[in-house]
Amino acid sequence: MTPSALWRRRTLALQRTAWRCGACGALSLVRRLACRSCASEARPAAARLPDGGKVAALSVGGAAFEKLDQVSIARVAVLLEAPGVSAPCLLAHSDADLAAGLRQAWLRFAVRRMPGAGADADAPIAYTFKAAADRPTRQRIQSSQRERMKRNGT
Ligand SMILES: [Zn+2]
Repeated sequence: MTPSALWRRRTLALQRTAWRCGACGALSLVRRLACRSCASEARPAAARLPDGGKVAALSVGGAAFEKLDQVSIARVAVLLEAPGVSAPCLLAHSDADLAAGLRQAWLRFAVRRMPGAGADADAPIAYTFKAAADRPTRQRIQSSQRERMKRNGT
């Protein structure tokens, strides 16, 4: 089995689990004492998170690392909305340069390494959900970026 096939199987094993409010049905990425939508304290039940959602909001910010050269990289945060859930998460690093074209795009929830975690060699690698574009979305945005560059003569 190839490393990429192993990685895909690991993603499937982790699944996308959320918590559904017993009163209103709203989904939350973390188990809460009270629902953020209706304030019900009904015990939430584990539920499958939708495969993805539409980008309702997007923000690009710098993340500086405390190193001698003070490297700063762009971190893109998105708010994905799907029926019953509104989930803020980081955009997958591989899609960061497509950020300007991702407004209102449908992105999937993907399991990726948590930024900044696992600095200690003995610590387990931490994972989190990030938003990731599928191949057709990537190709559509890259194509429109190339067209724009052609029109601008750059
Ligand atoms: Zn609720």
